[in-house]
Amino acid sequence: DHVANQIAAGEVVQRPASVVKELIENSIDAGATSITLLLKDAGKTSIQVIDDGKGMSATDARMSFERHATSKIKDAQDLFNLSTKGFRGEALASIAAIAHVELKTKQENDELGTLLKIEGSEVTAQEVVATAKGTSIAVKNLFFNIPARRNFLKSDTVETRHIVDEFQRVALAHPNISFLLHHNNNEVYHLKKSNLRKRIVAIFGAKMNEKLVPINEQTDIMTVNGFVAKPEFAKKKRGEQFFFVNNRFIKSSYLNHAVVNAFEGLLENGAHPSYFLYLEVPPNTIDINIHPTKTEVKFDNEKALYAILRATVKHSLGQYNV
Ligand code: ADP
Ligand code: MG
Repeated sequence: DHVANQIAAGEVVQRPASVVKELIENSIDAGATSITLLLKDAGKTSIQVIDDGKGMSATDARMSFERHATSKIKDAQDLFNLSTKGFRGEALASIAAIAHVELKTKQENDELGTLLKIEGSEVTAQEVVATAKGTSIAVKNLFFNIPARRNFLKSDTVETRHIVDEFQRVALAHPNISFLLHHNNNEVYHLKKSNLRKRIVAIFGAKMNEKLVPINEQTDIMTVNGFVAKPEFAKKKRGEQFFFVNNRFIKSSYLNHAVVNAFEGLLENGAHPSYFLYLEVPPNTIDINIHPTKTEVKFDNEKALYAILRATVKHSLGQYNV
């Protein structure tokens, strides 16, 4: 079973950034309003996520590390109506199979909380502890028991970049949650609870404020909100390009093309527009299960979505007569 856990772990956990994504999404699912991420050595030595969410009972804490232990799906129908981020109940079991994990958690009405230590799927300690409401999970020495995977990790610069990418995506999806990121005891981001415009500016710099053109459109099959950056601020390298579908970050070269197409004639050769676009579609018209790390989706009516997106971006750019 440990072997099965290790194999499955490889699917969910490719690098420290995968751990960061899974832990932060769990904190959001738990209703956190404030999330802190502490990293040591690009996450290779330690990744800790602390939240003020609903916490877990001692039994739930033990259960949470069992494979397919999810509290988020009650029946198969739920799979088609996902509102929570996690749904496979695999992340914590996978992470615990290939790292040293320390969990502290307490529910609001409990006086004391639970401390759990797990090393390579083996519970090495369970204690009653005094701790704040919410959950703290520290993941140390990732891949300690899979040297091939550990050696495969890239430089600290590259692994940090992957983590920051995940962090930015989740921070952009949840401007109403405050986020803190520390790396080797240095503050990297301190994002206060705010609105989307301010969150974008807090992440990408004050200059962003004057660049943003609002996008708001509502049709029968899709709602679009967010911002595109004015064409004169397009970048030679890749722009800041973010799509969220039902508040989940996705990659879509198809939808990207629709946006780029809307900038037709406005961009210099080789320039890439920046955009922060939030699409809402009925959950039963998308399939988000086609990729284990869940960044790609399949849309039922992608041609119509393309046309709406292109038209609304084009229209908004025209209104701001850029
Ligand atoms: P999933 O998120 O797919 O349900 P996970 O392995 O990520 O699976 O988590 C397992 C379970 O552990 C969750 O369903 C949830 O009940 C609990 N859990 C994990 N992280 C937290 C957290 N930060 N706060 C409260 N409960 C949590
Ligand atoms: Mg999860």
